[in-house]
Amino acid sequence: MLQVKAPNPDLDHVTTAPVLGQPAAAYPAAPRTGRAGLLAVPVLVISVCAVLGVVLAGSTALRLLFALAGIAVPVTFQAALYVRQRSLAGDLHRSQSSFRTLVKSSVDPVVILDDTLRVTFASESAAELLGLDAARMIGEPVTGRVHPDDRASLVGALNSPLTDGTDFAVRTARVQHADGRWRLIQATVRDLRTDPDVGALVLYCRDVTARVPAPGFDPELAELSLTDPVTGLPNRAALVRRLGAVQREAGRPFALALVGVEGLASEVLTPDAEAAVLRSLTGRLTRALRGEDWLARGKDGDFVVLVDGTIADAETVAARLVAAVGPLPIPGGTLHLTAVAGVTALLADVDTGEALRRGDLALRSARNAGPGAVHRYLDALRIEQDRRDALRTDLDGALSRGELRLVFQPVVDVVMHRTVSVEALLRWRHPVFGEVSPTEFVPLAEESPLITELGRWVLREACATIAALGDTDLGVAVNVSARQVRSGELVPDVISALETSGLPSSRLIVEITESVLLDDSHVLEDLTVLRQLGVRIAIDDFGTGWSSLAYLVGMPVDVLKMDQYFLSNVEHDPARRAMCRAVLHLGSSLGLPVIVEGVTNPAVLNLLRDMGHRFLQGYVFSRPLEAEQLADGAWEAWVELPAPVPTTAAEAPAQSAAMPS
Ligand code: C2E
Ligand code: MG
Ligand code: MG
Repeated sequence: MLQVKAPNPDLDHVTTAPVLGQPAAAYPAAPRTGRAGLLAVPVLVISVCAVLGVVLAGSTALRLLFALAGIAVPVTFQAALYVRQRSLAGDLHRSQSSFRTLVKSSVDPVVILDDTLRVTFASESAAELLGLDAARMIGEPVTGRVHPDDRASLVGALNSPLTDGTDFAVRTARVQHADGRWRLIQATVRDLRTDPDVGALVLYCRDVTARVPAPGFDPELAELSLTDPVTGLPNRAALVRRLGAVQREAGRPFALALVGVEGLASEVLTPDAEAAVLRSLTGRLTRALRGEDWLARGKDGDFVVLVDGTIADAETVAARLVAAVGPLPIPGGTLHLTAVAGVTALLADVDTGEALRRGDLALRSARNAGPGAVHRYLDALRIEQDRRDALRTDLDGALSRGELRLVFQPVVDVVMHRTVSVEALLRWRHPVFGEVSPTEFVPLAEESPLITELGRWVLREACATIAALGDTDLGVAVNVSARQVRSGELVPDVISALETSGLPSSRLIVEITESVLLDDSHVLEDLTVLRQLGVRIAIDDFGTGWSSLAYLVGMPVDVLKMDQYFLSNVEHDPARRAMCRAVLHLGSSLGLPVIVEGVTNPAVLNLLRDMGHRFLQGYVFSRPLEAEQLADGAWEAWVELPAPVPTTAAEAPAQSAAMPS
């Protein structure tokens, strides 16, 4: 198969004739006569004066002088003009020649088109792609051998200027080979039409057809639309065909690299601007490829590279592609794009679908790791995926089978030395996997409306359990997922849970995450209604979105729950300690109490208390308690434990805001 590398940037410096590839003699020798044109006026005036002088002069000597001047000036001018034209023609000829030499010496299949999309030059290797004679391609319209279904889109794409700030684009079309078969040809198009010295389109072509063993017309290929209309790359259907063919051929190693780009789903982009961004991105990725690699569009807008090499080669290619993605200028700003990649070997005994699924798993794992990550497929990822699939299926019905329950963890006021509330935490005892963490199954429930049903149950169960405790003012905090808030059913669900249980609204705290506050106004309205009812709103995992602290002012919020992240290594890390203080100060300035969760050991407890943190939650006081333990009053059991000795505070502690009641 013939392959090309990215367009040769050396060609940027070459000045060429208006239509590249035509013989230099076809061009007028003196296209640039600007200065000569200006000089022609005084020369004409001198000539006219000379003629008048010859006619009107009194003496013969004077007439002779005028006649000589009349002849000498135009002749000198013509001579100068001739020398200049020769020099320009020489320049032009040399620049055309150097361009043609560059193009001809390139092993790349190159085709050059004029403004009317006719071929003005075709390299030998380009002609070979289609089994044609290069000389006979000259003058032919480029669409002559293009599949009728692809013609309109190809012409449209070639005729539209590239508005995305690059002069590269990738176009793919079915083109008929001399043997009658359809080949899928991908061209990286260099648009030099607006370059006054060039005025042409330069196409660097490559054959991206899956190699079909038997010669002859391939009706399936002709029928299928194999091109992604936006980027011009082969689409997923073309990719699957190609992978199948490569696997059948085998003989040498191939691998897959799946590249996922983040940051494209921007609301500031119009559909046209998004298409331009994608084309620009495609240009960047194409240039980062090695000649023998093959780029296509995958599922959900991902890019897939078929790498001619081992999985280690695929990792190298993937790292290059990921590095090629970055900030991209758009009209009125910059789009901050990042990328991750997953790689897997293309094994002969693994079918195409499974190979893509493996690549996808590796990509997903890279996504979890964050921007820039390149992950290999490992069997462990497949095991994890299988477990996730099983949990997803089993979750539906877990409630009716009685596998779910709530446990309750105390939140302690270290100033008043008492438990102020408990946080309700969901638990799932799976018949096969045993205890499954909510961090594992809540995100699965959030993928479907099941989370609303689960959330409704949690609210009812939590309110009922706490209301049943009898003579106490203990509060209960319930975690509410973003999807549940967005469903619009939170307010009626809360009202129903309070009514059925008889729990006063002031004893219920709804925990949401920061991102929910950035949602549309209906979410804020619902939260405001809940507060009007007397329910308190806590921001869980607070502090992970530091960039948007300003949003807190005026928001329907009563409590901040500091993210556990700030406590990791807090005893030894001054920066973390500074952050713990900063969150406390922020809460104080806004008049909001701060609950610190994840307080695991006495050293951290002392540290936080010395800082002035008042509301703490964590294993140091109590693990989450079963409902029956609550009924026995176990939420205050920690009070009986020996109190940790306070350390001497290095600074005067800030005062935590009191918990509203
Ligand atoms: P979260 O709401 O931030 O809950 C705090 C988590 O920290 C709980 O994990 C709790 O068991 C754990 N924890 C408490 N004390 C300590 C400690 O001293 N050290 C450490 N390392 N961890 C501590 P859990 O129960 O596994 O819950 C994890 C997350 O699952 C919760 O984080 C919450 O986001 C979610 N979740 C739990 N129950 C529900 C629920 O009913 N609905 C929704 N939507 N999400 C829930
Ligand atoms: Mg929580
Ligand atoms: Mg939390």
